[in-house]
Amino acid sequence: MPASTHQPTVAIAGGGLAGLAAGCALAEAGFRVTLFERRPYLGGRASSYQHPGTGEIVDNCQHVLLGCCTNLLDFYRRAGVENKIRWYEKLTFLEPGGRASVIAPSALPAPLHTAPAFLRADCLSFRDKLAISRAMAVLAPAAPEDRGESFLTWLKRHGQTEQAIERFWKTILVSALNEDLDQVSVPYAAQVVRESFLKSAAAGRMGIPTVPLTELYGTAGAYIRARGGDVQFRAGVEAFRTEASEVSVTANGREQKFDYLLLAVPFDVLGRILPDTPSAAPLAAALGQFTTSPITGIHLWFDRQISNLDHAVLLDRTIQWMFHKSRLIEARGTGNGGGSYVELVVSCSRSLVEKSKTEIVDMAVKEAQEFFPGARDAKLLKSTVIKEVNATYSPRPGIDQQRPKPETVWPRVFLAGDWTATGWPATMEGAVRSGYLAAEALARFAGEKSASFLVADLPPSGLMKLFG
Ligand SMILES: Cc1cc2nc3c(=O)[nH]c(=O)nc-3n(C[C@H](O)[C@H](O)[C@H](O)COP(=O)(O)OP(=O)(O)OC[C@H]3O[C@@H](n4cnc5c(N)ncnc54)[C@H](O)[C@@H]3O)c2cc1C
Repeated sequence: MPASTHQPTVAIAGGGLAGLAAGCALAEAGFRVTLFERRPYLGGRASSYQHPGTGEIVDNCQHVLLGCCTNLLDFYRRAGVENKIRWYEKLTFLEPGGRASVIAPSALPAPLHTAPAFLRADCLSFRDKLAISRAMAVLAPAAPEDRGESFLTWLKRHGQTEQAIERFWKTILVSALNEDLDQVSVPYAAQVVRESFLKSAAAGRMGIPTVPLTELYGTAGAYIRARGGDVQFRAGVEAFRTEASEVSVTANGREQKFDYLLLAVPFDVLGRILPDTPSAAPLAAALGQFTTSPITGIHLWFDRQISNLDHAVLLDRTIQWMFHKSRLIEARGTGNGGGSYVELVVSCSRSLVEKSKTEIVDMAVKEAQEFFPGARDAKLLKSTVIKEVNATYSPRPGIDQQRPKPETVWPRVFLAGDWTATGWPATMEGAVRSGYLAAEALARFAGEKSASFLVADLPPSGLMKLFG
């Protein structure tokens, strides 16, 4: 912190992961942080609340992370919640009827560590496996550049079978990137595959929170307050105005002055807050290029245990993942009074957006019965469907060029959010990276020339070291 008596003040708009990560880093670096959040709770698109229809605490959707999410893990350490994540090495792929293929790492060096399990997997034929291995060999050395091609076209060009596309590539990538393969750019897909399957066993392991999301992220608010900051709820930022040595921020009709402003709101909200001036026009035009894709979570409470799995990948049907919440969430233990609470997730769920809750629940229960014989005799006690219609931005070819850096045309105003230029897709890791990058840019502008919050990536292991 510069050796002046004035403690620099920062307004942060948005209490999602980007705003919280930036707020924690800046509060720790000695800035006086005021965080404005429009809702009455923190976490943004990764949050939980008491659902009025069921009376249950539900996450807006199940969130998972991978071992390669180094900045998210750093943020968890800062907020003191790193022990609230349970780690899994194995993924179970279920076919309708219940046949399981388990993918888990072996002692072989990366990128071959999952090869034995992959070769044993019943859900893919020998031809599928050969095709996938050939594509993996192309992706292992480096992620290809964005040449405007979709990953589906790339897969077809690299001799992938229909079943390899449906059961492997689609299954992994649609849930990771929340978009259809014909809309996904090649580098985004390559990054997911390299990080989760090729780089190392540590990078690919999956973490699942053991507490509801707002419990996980609410601690970051306490962290900011403990360092002299303020967190204001139901406080939507409506406008800002920059002057030579300060920024005026209007929230809930009241104008306040700060030394700096960090905007960590979704891109569509930013478009509404931007001043209507020629200097804002290029950013406004870039924001206009973003589109979104929906995710639907179907929450079902059964009167008995329907599976002894904590989670599973579901093949060939509308529902794509099962998360056994009554086994995953600490406070609910493994029993949930003898019943099962499961969340079934459908990413890129455009086909469900117009459907009613009843139609979606009926479809989900019918499909769940195909995967989990235990569900056939179980009684459905209650259910709810949570549609996040604008869940994440679409990682289409070309969109990376529109993602803005943290610095803006206004020297005292900075941007964060999973949609800004982080090199990562719309994920919790991407959001935290954006928060750290914006906090770094702000602190350096404020005179902290050596400010550094971003954490290094996990190093490649085994033979992947050859590719750097
Ligand atoms: C259904 C769903 C499932 C997902 N699953 C995963 C997953 O499994 N793994 C993963 O890594 N990622 C997942 N994601 C993505 C992840 O949740 C996001 O990438 C991340 O949470 C985005 O954080 P953010 O801070 O950039 O944005 P947001 O979380 O959108 O935060 C923005 C905040 O700004 C607030 N705000 C809006 N307007 C104003 C205003 N005018 N003034 C003040 N505050 C305002 C909002 O209320 C919000 O709290 C999922 C997302 C969704 C929606």
